[in-house]
Amino acid sequence: MLNRHDPEVADLMSRERDRQETTLELIASENHVSPAVMHAMGSWLTNKYAEGYPGARYYGGCEFHDRIEDVARDRAKKLFGARFANVQPHSGAQANTAACMALLQPGDTFCSLVLKDGGHLSHGMKINFSGTFYKPVHYPLHYDASHPEHERIDYDAARRVCLEHKPKLLMCGYSAYPRVIDFARFRAIADECGALLMADIAHIAGLVATGVHPSPFPHAHVVTTTTHKTLRGPRGGLILTNDEELAKKIDKALFPGVQGGPLMHIIAAKAVAFGEALRPDFKAYCEQVVRNAKVLAVSLVEKRYRITSGGTDNHLMLVDLRGKSDALTGADAEKWLEAAGIITNKNGIPDDPRPPRVTSGLRLGTPALTTRGFKEAEMKEVANLIDRVLSAGVQDEAALASATTAVRADVRALCKRFPLG
Ligand SMILES: *Cc1c(COP(=O)(O)O)cnc(C)c1O
Repeated sequence: MLNRHDPEVADLMSRERDRQETTLELIASENHVSPAVMHAMGSWLTNKYAEGYPGARYYGGCEFHDRIEDVARDRAKKLFGARFANVQPHSGAQANTAACMALLQPGDTFCSLVLKDGGHLSHGMKINFSGTFYKPVHYPLHYDASHPEHERIDYDAARRVCLEHKPKLLMCGYSAYPRVIDFARFRAIADECGALLMADIAHIAGLVATGVHPSPFPHAHVVTTTTHKTLRGPRGGLILTNDEELAKKIDKALFPGVQGGPLMHIIAAKAVAFGEALRPDFKAYCEQVVRNAKVLAVSLVEKRYRITSGGTDNHLMLVDLRGKSDALTGADAEKWLEAAGIITNKNGIPDDPRPPRVTSGLRLGTPALTTRGFKEAEMKEVANLIDRVLSAGVQDEAALASATTAVRADVRALCKRFPLG
């Protein structure tokens, strides 16, 4: 249909489809949604204005939208064991904006991880709303190679920062942190300094929903997340809480505070994805995601790469490329790998001496490859492919050129064995 109606866009879309089919997707925040999720997204539900919440809309004709949003909310509550859910945030950043608006007054202090060590821009970056309207203070990781907790959260430092600055809100949950988060410990810190605790589980939501990572409940007062990363739903956000008063504040903050009309087609797709995540095969998927990440990390260590914090407990890892060669940067590695059909992103490593556009690290995640059906054996192949490109790259240009051609062909062959369906 689109082909004849708009060949220009149709052609670009089909080329993107082909790119996804024939490349290895290792970006930790990406995934491949099911055809059912996609069907709900690309539907007539997009035609409707449904400002407000079920039973209290500002437009007529919302009968079925009310029911769809109720299904989405009920499934979200069941999935995460929470009493209240808001499924309307257009994205994870919007969810965080609403949570901050609900919990803070302009000028208030909140506390989050040092951003370049794994935090998200909505956790206090200067040019983000969170750094513009509030005062962020930050806690560090351990930066001491001789410390057993090297490159893990320094909870004692977090406690000191909180006792000194008395933030109203303490944030945990990250974009590039490979280890288990101790939510109970954060809650104890929050209680001691009189803060509320917010857990942003954008990356690990699928793992949390299936018990593969401990739940932030009952510790966190508010939980925010995306729905499109390990949770494998449509691009969007979600806010959860067990506190009725906070739930009311959050609903108001999101609409009319931050957003207008909800994306009802996306909310329907969230409902479908939550339904999928409630099924036993999704737990098996999440367990495989973590097993795959561990095998990828170990395989890279065998090839003399350093993995920050010594490994991973979840779906992602940070590779410190300096282990391979002092001259190797994240920017070069990302570019070289992409040319060979391996899609990654450069990422700062803890205490990275290089600027964010260059970096010394690469972030790798297994959610998308695991959706394709990759298991431990394939992860070892993936580590080999990555190493062939990077080893050639640090050698010279001729070596890189021939490795790129050879690996690109091997990547295509590997992808062919695991079609996206
Ligand atoms: C991805 C991410 C977000 C933001 O999600 P968007 O949907 O891109 O706005 C928020 N917080 C964390 C920790 C994330 O990793």
